[in-house]
Amino acid sequence: MTQHDPVLIVGAGPVGILNALGLAQAGVPVTVLERNDGVVPSPRAMVYHWSVLDGLERLDVYDQAVARGFLKQDYTYKVHRTGEEIRYGLRSIERLVKHPYNLHLGQHVLVEVALEALADHPHAKVLWGHKLVSLEQDADGVTAVAAAADGERTLRGSWLIGADGARSRVRESLGIEFEGITWPERFVATNIRYPFEEKGFSQTTMLIDDVYGAIISKIDNSGETGLWRYTYCEDASLPEEGVLDRMPAFLEEVLPDTEGFELDSYSPYRMHQRAASRFRDGRVLLAGDAAHATNPTGGLGLTSGLFDTFILQEVLAAVIKGEADEGILDDYARERRRVFVEQVNPAASNNKRLVYHSSDPERLERDLAELRTLESDEEAAVRRLLFTKSLETPSLIGAW
Ligand SMILES: Cc1cc2nc3c(=O)[nH]c(=O)nc-3n(C[C@H](O)[C@H](O)[C@H](O)COP(=O)(O)OP(=O)(O)OC[C@H]3O[C@@H](n4cnc5c(N)ncnc54)[C@H](O)[C@@H]3O)c2cc1C
Repeated sequence: MTQHDPVLIVGAGPVGILNALGLAQAGVPVTVLERNDGVVPSPRAMVYHWSVLDGLERLDVYDQAVARGFLKQDYTYKVHRTGEEIRYGLRSIERLVKHPYNLHLGQHVLVEVALEALADHPHAKVLWGHKLVSLEQDADGVTAVAAAADGERTLRGSWLIGADGARSRVRESLGIEFEGITWPERFVATNIRYPFEEKGFSQTTMLIDDVYGAIISKIDNSGETGLWRYTYCEDASLPEEGVLDRMPAFLEEVLPDTEGFELDSYSPYRMHQRAASRFRDGRVLLAGDAAHATNPTGGLGLTSGLFDTFILQEVLAAVIKGEADEGILDDYARERRRVFVEQVNPAASNNKRLVYHSSDPERLERDLAELRTLESDEEAAVRRLLFTKSLETPSLIGAW
């Protein structure tokens, strides 16, 4: 391979760092620009569907990620008002797939694991404290200007990946629309300690209720942190500074008591269903939340970003090495956008409606009837579980 300017990657979130790792493993020099001075541990993704685990294994981070998180198979839907519980699990796909379990792990820990692997590649650099300010592209490459503590710095890259999250400066610099809607609710993601299992909760409970709907899930199995994620939803017109005052009313309604309860951290945030109008502009490619944003019910956000990552690094490395025509990048852009708009977007909206907006009794009964089949009909459970695999784009050049 001839020497190239590195691929510039904006954003050291999971999508940016895993893209950097895949490209570095393919022998492509990469430079990541991250505005923060290190990895930020705010409460965000923590469930990785079974379907992305093959990709993490190909990137050689699977074992380390599993060692830092834990694998689990069971889900419970619980109707808050009646107490009905519907349980199903991933045992039904054990005969079909290599990794029939989900991985639970804070996304900042996944980033740390990937950064450790990236450190083995001297042609990969991460520039912390570098905030992308502007970019320009020409026929041969991309010039990016970043603000750093000691002033502005200009960097030259052969290509640039915008992995800078939902408020992407890369996307904005190119004037690419972020089409879709912002939901009228606010989600509040909390990391808490509470003896959920002693009180009869399963490791993931999707609590269905029009007011107290919540996703309650164990983050860590090591006993090291004892953290669980409890995410609920409130009207976004309520003042954000009152979130902490209103929080006890949500938790006290659902938890049998508050003995052993401890709030570790929380993060209120708005949710969107949006996709960039295009995922490629010349030598710039968008991936992860920079390309698409979804509400997180059902854990499809980073799942989509990881599926972008697995295919983008493959096609971009092939183009850089002269093994594929640039047109393959349009295939990436078109296909990943299609998957988001046609599959992820409606599924995530439906998940949100089911858990948080069950005010229509007839609709709820139809939803519950469908969910009950998951307990009694193994094939129905298999069909539901295979959905997340359909979000993957198979190799575009057969190189894996
Ligand atoms: C509460 C919550 C729970 C979630 N749970 C799940 C889940 O269980 N499963 C799931 O699949 N998804 C989940 N998601 C979604 C998931 O967190 C996102 O999809 C994921 O963070 C996207 O990763 P990313 O790398 O694309 O972007 P980010 O994680 O947003 O990373 C972007 C990075 O770019 C940096 N950056 C931004 N602007 C600049 C700039 N100008 N210059 C340099 N750097 C910049 C940022 O500092 C950041 O480090 C959840 C989201 C939330 C909010």
